[in-house]
Amino acid sequence: MEVSKLTFTLRSKLTFSYIFIVMVVVGLMSLAANVGLNKQFENYVIQRQEKQTAEIIDLVEMKYEEENTWNTGYLEIIGMNALQNGMIIVIKDSEKGNIWSAYEHNNGLCQAMIMNMRANMYSYSDKWNGEYQEKSYPILQSDKQIGTLTTGYVGPYYFNDEELIFIKALNSLFLIAGICSLLIAFALGIFMSLRLSNPLNKIAKKALSLSEGRYKERLVDVSHTKEIEILIETINELSDALEHKDNLRKQLTQDVAHELRTPLTSVQGHMEAMLDGIWAMDNERLNSCYEEIIRIKKLIGSIENLSGVENENVLLHKEDFDLSRLIVRLLNNYENEFLTKNIKVNYLEKPVTIHADPDKMSQIFNNLLSNAIKYSSENGEITIKAEKEENKIIVRVKDTGIGIKEEDLPHIFERFYRGDKSRNRQTGGIGVGLTITRAIIEAHDGTIDVNSTYGQGSEFIIRLPQ
Ligand code: ADP
Repeated sequence: MEVSKLTFTLRSKLTFSYIFIVMVVVGLMSLAANVGLNKQFENYVIQRQEKQTAEIIDLVEMKYEEENTWNTGYLEIIGMNALQNGMIIVIKDSEKGNIWSAYEHNNGLCQAMIMNMRANMYSYSDKWNGEYQEKSYPILQSDKQIGTLTTGYVGPYYFNDEELIFIKALNSLFLIAGICSLLIAFALGIFMSLRLSNPLNKIAKKALSLSEGRYKERLVDVSHTKEIEILIETINELSDALEHKDNLRKQLTQDVAHELRTPLTSVQGHMEAMLDGIWAMDNERLNSCYEEIIRIKKLIGSIENLSGVENENVLLHKEDFDLSRLIVRLLNNYENEFLTKNIKVNYLEKPVTIHADPDKMSQIFNNLLSNAIKYSSENGEITIKAEKEENKIIVRVKDTGIGIKEEDLPHIFERFYRGDKSRNRQTGGIGVGLTITRAIIEAHDGTIDVNSTYGQGSEFIIRLPQ
């Protein structure tokens, strides 16, 4: 997928899903609050109407008790007052019938009020389907019913004018607050999703550029979210690792091409000269070609070995064994070389148990010993020490050979690096022995250091975990 398309898809998906979630949450919360408050208000109105009725009954009962008869003047004041508060009441004596009735007093006003109640409720909700209804309450004197108070209203409840204004204002406020919350949620949604999608876009672009082999650029400080920071760090580490591997691969290809070209060109030149009849095909020339071919074979073997140990996932078959026995065995193998050059070997064998890969250990000490012999002149001395220090095994391989020039010292572990090239052409070294040695030691979580004085000798110090 193209980077721009991916960026757009990622950003729009994140933005829309974020906004959608926030808007749904805010919308649902506003709706729930609105429904809850309306319900509460309806309950309040019903209670208010019940309370008003109870108060009227109390007043009527008190007056009757005081005068032991109906006071129609007083009942009229109560009835008118109730009418003004939006209540239609009728008071009946249990025997004589109507004592005071709002309908008889002012039927026109009562009808107008009922219409007003309906109009109020319809303007509150056009789905309102209440009916005019009456409710009767007993009027008691010493627990004996002496009459009935009937209230007329549109039900199950109704809002008077003030209540209607209040509930409408409340609903408008809710609507405004809801719209504002949605707008804020929308803006916040865009802001948050951009905050999240921007670094993710950069990471996606980076991942694409990695897949296209561009490792150089690094992602820097593009997010304040911890998880994304970790992701950025991981991506940067990944590009470092890929860059390193890519460099190794390029370097190896270059080095191999370079190392192979010289002997191959030489063999080619010799063969061409012989085929063209310029040189006689004698033993000496054929031998020289043969030696070059042997060198090329050795080189290829070393390269195979090198790529084997430089692989980060190099397989180690570790076991516990006595390192000093391994050193003694190797020293025995080189007995001939020591005799030929009259080299004195100092090694005090004492058991040193190590947990390592024995084959790989034998490979590194072979490299170090063969170098020590190779770079020692006649009558030299090689000293080996292997001991346990704290929780490390330290092995020193010291020779009194030609030593290493100061300018060569930092490079001797590099691939195909040869200190003294002319001499090495004679000794046949190709400059990968120490590279392999260091790679094996590092695979064992160890280190290798070198001390050397040109003309006096060298000492290689290996530190390995036990
Ligand atoms: P080579 O196959 O050339 O010996 P190495 O990787 O083993 O390759 O060594 C790299 C270079 O380090 C050598 O060319 C040599 O110059 C130097 N070197 C290694 N060991 C010794 C030593 N014991 N004494 C002097 N020089 C050494």
